Amino acid sequence: MPVTWLPPVHERWLFDFLFGAHPGVSILFGTDEDRARADTLLEAHRLGVKTAVDYLEAEGCYGWFSEIASDLGSHLRTSVTEHIESSEGHPYIHTHVLVSSHVPLATDRPESGMPAGYLVPIVQDVLLGAWMVAGPRYLGTLEGELVRSYGFGFEDTDALPGRTLLGIPEGLVARFTPTTCRSEIRQKVATWRGDQ
Ligand SMILES: [Zn+2]
Repeated sequence: MPVTWLPPVHERWLFDFLFGAHPGVSILFGTDEDRARADTLLEAHRLGVKTAVDYLEAEGCYGWFSEIASDLGSHLRTSVTEHIESSEGHPYIHTHVLVSSHVPLATDRPESGMPAGYLVPIVQDVLLGAWMVAGPRYLGTLEGELVRSYGFGFEDTDALPGRTLLGIPEGLVARFTPTTCRSEIRQKVATWRGDQ
């Protein structure tokens, strides 16, 4: 029996996937006086984001259709915003990929009265599974591009994300890491409290 009534679509942003560069990459981008070299860092980040979003699109684009999780969705509905600083003001190349709660059907589904493009709810678990893979792919692409095309080096580290850019002056890292900024903020808060 054909469905003659379609529920209203309450579309909203469901996920804010963050793709953030290694701290050393962001710090060098923010401080390098050789701006042509700095730009290569941003380009490598963008290539990494594109690789990751392409992967999300291919593997995470499932919608609920007739109560069945289906890959009939044609594409993710996303909004992408790039930032080069954190909210605290330290250099931090990162891109937010907002993903909608719904995906459009790729083809007409006449038996259900749904045309191509009709929005159906996204299958969250499938998208989150793809996200678990997309994050490392982003970092791997960024790092590979910098090593192969521009001769940068990386090594393993205990700090997140597990790899660090070689050749950054030690003082720069200490000055611009988020931890340092947070402690500075804490100090400002303590000073402010002391003034009250
Ligand atoms: Zn941001």
